[in-house]
Amino acid sequence: MDLKMDALLLRAADYGESDRMVTLLTAERGKVSAAMKGVRKAGAKLRFASQPFCFAEYVFAEKNGRNTVTQASLHDGFYDLRTNVSSYYAAACVTEVCDRFSMENMAAGPLLVCAVTALEGIEQHLDAPNFYLVKFLVEAVMLAGYPLSAGDCPVCGKKIAGRRFFDLRTGSFNCAACAVGVPASESTYHAIREAISLAEEGERDVAPQAEEDGYLRALRLLRAYIGYQTDTELPALAQYLSL
Ligand SMILES: [Zn+2]
Repeated sequence: MDLKMDALLLRAADYGESDRMVTLLTAERGKVSAAMKGVRKAGAKLRFASQPFCFAEYVFAEKNGRNTVTQASLHDGFYDLRTNVSSYYAAACVTEVCDRFSMENMAAGPLLVCAVTALEGIEQHLDAPNFYLVKFLVEAVMLAGYPLSAGDCPVCGKKIAGRRFFDLRTGSFNCAACAVGVPASESTYHAIREAISLAEEGERDVAPQAEEDGYLRALRLLRAYIGYQTDTELPALAQYLSL
């Protein structure tokens, strides 16, 4: 039976002479793998739908538990993301985290929406993508059920001022007197605090309020945090931070 779903392409691998196996994120069924036949041939009709970051409505034919993409109609190809190495890797961080935080046969509507929103933000701000990446990572971490907070010190209960620390086990900041975890700057704290409140409010159309330096530091902290919580590396995020 044919199945029609909006999906974001997370990754693709070549196989055979001209085919590709794609991994897609859908709202209804989480991660879906499907074959795309002949898409590496010059002029192939569905070639666009096997490219990085493609967001489209895909039609799947299912046979013996295997999916094949038979049609696709484009919502957004995010082609500008491929125009420079920085935005390419920023976008690759988004699809990498979606891949890591989703499974087959799970509802993934909120993750799909926040990934597409992040790609739009990065594409529209190619020179300053960090805010959109921080916002995405914070929301994805929270959707995946990992704790993350930036309020008063959870150890002593006091308001945090000046130097602060981030506890990788609990995902929370604490004060210099309690000093649990790794040191974190004030700008990191504000960047993460902003992203948490935007995620909780469900705000989509927003502009950055914290310092640019804070977003970069926040990305380093989020990389450490996701690594600690999931016990895995994020190669695209590591590459992006090393650019
Ligand atoms: Zn404290």
